Amino acid sequence: AKHVYDFTEGNRNLKDLLGGKGANLAEMTNLGLPVPPGFTITTEACRHYLAAGAVPDGLDQEVAGHLDALEKKMGRKLGQADDPLLVSVRSGAKFSMPGMMETVLNIGLNDESVHGLAKQAGGNERFAWDSYRRLIQMFGKTVLDIDGDLFERALDELKGRRQDTDLDAGELQGLVKTYKGIVREQTGKDFPADPLEQMRLAVMAVFDSWNAPRAILYRRQERIPADLGTAVNIMAMVFGNYGDDSGTGVAFTRDPGSGRQGIYGDYLQNAQGEDVVAGIRNTIPLEELERIDKHSYDELLGIMQTLETHYKDLCDIEFTIERGKLWMLQTRVGKRTPGAAFRIATQLVDQGLITLDEAVTRVTGDQLAQLMFPRFDAGADKKKIAKGMNASPGAAVGKAVFSSERAVELTEQGEDVILVRRETNPDDLVGMIAAKGVLTSRGGKTSHAAVVARGMGKTCVCGAEELDVNIRDGSFTAPDGVVVSEGDVISIDGTTGEVFLGEVPVVPSAVVEYFEGAEPGDELVKAVDRIIRRADAARRLGVRANADTPDDAARARRFGAQGIGLCRTEHMFLGERRQLVEDLVLASTDEERQAALDALEPLQKSDFIGIFRAMEGDPVTIRLIDPPLHEFLPDIVDLSVKVATSPDVTEKDRKLLAAVKRLHEQNPMLGLRGVRLGLVIPGLFAMQVRAIAQAAKEVPGARPEIMIPLVAAVQELESVREEAAKILAEVGVEALIGTMIEVPRAALTAGQIAEAAEFFSFGTNDLTQMAWGFSRDDVESSFFHRYLDLGIFGVSPFETMDREGVGRLIKIAVEEGRAARPDLHLGICGEHGGDPDSVHFCHEVGLDYVSCSPFRIPVARLEAGRAAL
Ligand code: PEP
Ligand code: MG
Repeated sequence: AKHVYDFTEGNRNLKDLLGGKGANLAEMTNLGLPVPPGFTITTEACRHYLAAGAVPDGLDQEVAGHLDALEKKMGRKLGQADDPLLVSVRSGAKFSMPGMMETVLNIGLNDESVHGLAKQAGGNERFAWDSYRRLIQMFGKTVLDIDGDLFERALDELKGRRQDTDLDAGELQGLVKTYKGIVREQTGKDFPADPLEQMRLAVMAVFDSWNAPRAILYRRQERIPADLGTAVNIMAMVFGNYGDDSGTGVAFTRDPGSGRQGIYGDYLQNAQGEDVVAGIRNTIPLEELERIDKHSYDELLGIMQTLETHYKDLCDIEFTIERGKLWMLQTRVGKRTPGAAFRIATQLVDQGLITLDEAVTRVTGDQLAQLMFPRFDAGADKKKIAKGMNASPGAAVGKAVFSSERAVELTEQGEDVILVRRETNPDDLVGMIAAKGVLTSRGGKTSHAAVVARGMGKTCVCGAEELDVNIRDGSFTAPDGVVVSEGDVISIDGTTGEVFLGEVPVVPSAVVEYFEGAEPGDELVKAVDRIIRRADAARRLGVRANADTPDDAARARRFGAQGIGLCRTEHMFLGERRQLVEDLVLASTDEERQAALDALEPLQKSDFIGIFRAMEGDPVTIRLIDPPLHEFLPDIVDLSVKVATSPDVTEKDRKLLAAVKRLHEQNPMLGLRGVRLGLVIPGLFAMQVRAIAQAAKEVPGARPEIMIPLVAAVQELESVREEAAKILAEVGVEALIGTMIEVPRAALTAGQIAEAAEFFSFGTNDLTQMAWGFSRDDVESSFFHRYLDLGIFGVSPFETMDREGVGRLIKIAVEEGRAARPDLHLGICGEHGGDPDSVHFCHEVGLDYVSCSPFRIPVARLEAGRAAL
């Protein structure tokens, strides 16, 4: 197999094989843009290496062949003493993982070729030694696994209060010596002088970095599959650290925060590679490049225009200027905030670059969900203490913490925290995930903190330079002298960049207000409106709500629900009605039981009336009572203690305890619940059906659907159905009678069950629980972490549908159910009904609707539209 592709051989559609960086470098090369020559080692080679512990056969020869061609093209040999070719070795997975994996620059330098490099640079010794010390530093850290702080500290000691650019050639030469000493001391070996050896080791380090803890964590967070591997890009070096006529930068073709077109980016003179992202020195805004190097600036703007038109989307780029010559080092369709995603999608429609259908596919339900988060109340009293850059929108309130460890600790104790750092680096990932928001005092909109927070949809204010952050003391000082220490509450606004002391109250988002019925006002809401309307027109799936109260039902309807897919009646037995349920359970005679049921019936009836009214003629699927009865009774331990020790125990307490003991089960989730309750307690389901029927009779146009839970065998359903049909006929009301499919046996015997059911609704919470044998109430806090680490699944099957297992059961039930009853109506009402990926699955298997909680309804509408397009 071919494992290496020259940049001229690939294209942007080969991301699986060449990774995002490699595929886009190839695309740019073929567009004729100035990309330094190079080649890409495939992700397949990486997967082979990770599985087998060795590179695939023939890879070394293939790389040698490509290197040979690269050397010919450049007219120089890798690391050659008098005139060296240097290369960079950079990771690049299919999905971008900013700063998560490894890069090594300046490969090919050693004690001889450093002189050759200086000669090449017209006698620029300083540049050559700076490049060499960077190689040892990066190689030492990423390839040889030496603690990067050792190098940082040596550099800091040498610099004192100066910038790194103030160091002269002699000092940098001394630093190289120090660095080599560190390498010898830490590894027991000399820094490898052989250029080919350097390259080979760097390639393997990139492969290995796929499984670095921070990469694993990032993938889990972003739901990137664990088995993709990374490609490796080997590219001829161009140098931004020649002097002031050189530099390096990053840019966006539009503002990734607002979507507006313009010049957005950061530039750093006399610098190399990662300096910009790492926030080593403060960058200057890209506009200022015009003054420094107008020729390169104009060329860059032209290229950005070309890229946007070519990719028909916002692109971000990395570039280097080497002595007045512009080079493109990377591009990709850029990450953006959720708001910008919607705005950009519709802006591109207006520019005629994409269709509205494409715009719908360019945004995601997760992004829409983010836009529905609250924001700070503009009218509230607030004490602003600083302003930084609005790096990632949202409103976050929490206790200030100054290290990732503390962020994690306090979050585990249930606190909300804001992670405050001077700047972040990939080691801060755990803290960023734990925190509600991130605040840094250094770095621009392309700093690590900004890029990663945006990717995670986490509120972030970066580069708040007026804050004096003291990590060691765990405090920061604001310009007006206010000192914020660990534990003090602050509020940060990622939309404006403002930092406030104390807790600022939050208000609902404009997008939520729009869904609540407000006219679309600003550009963002108008974009959401256009896209959601188009998604509605395109989707085949209906969207219903899980709602148990008239208020929820009304909100769900405003949000676009076309009915209720799950009304859980047990929620109507809580609060003061608990006593009535207790009476029902304790009843020792038919009369007592009937009296309890008679007391419950009018209450249930009025609940249903409220819901039918709220739904104004849309269907309402009412599920008869499901959970085990003991949930309505006092705790067995508490009551036992009371009966055993309290002086004033009543006869009733004793009776109650006896009942609680009688009903106590080892596995209540597998016990007396759902249809089993209906079959065991005479009159319970009948009371509910009568309440539904009578309520429907009072609300003109009401469309009740009666749903029987936890059915495993058609016989269970038949006997309940018969009784219910009789009551409906007596009252003179029509209603569909159907069942939930939430026990695997029901899915496997769906053909029989469909004979007695007019509809199925997949209860994927229980179906997942019973298909995997996982207790839905316990596992996520117990051993799921381990399962995620082991890659048994990438995301909890309770969150996103397990297509292979649970999905298979659903497919069987859909096919066999429809075969038995062609007009069988099919829906889903487990939590998966509001999960984007699962909505796509439901579309694919041909369900009629999904049902989810009211706040997820816009997400489900959008994803159902995307699935259909
Ligand atoms: C289900 O099991 O998926 C379901 C919707 O029912 P509940 O969550 O109430 O058990
Ligand atoms: Mg269930």
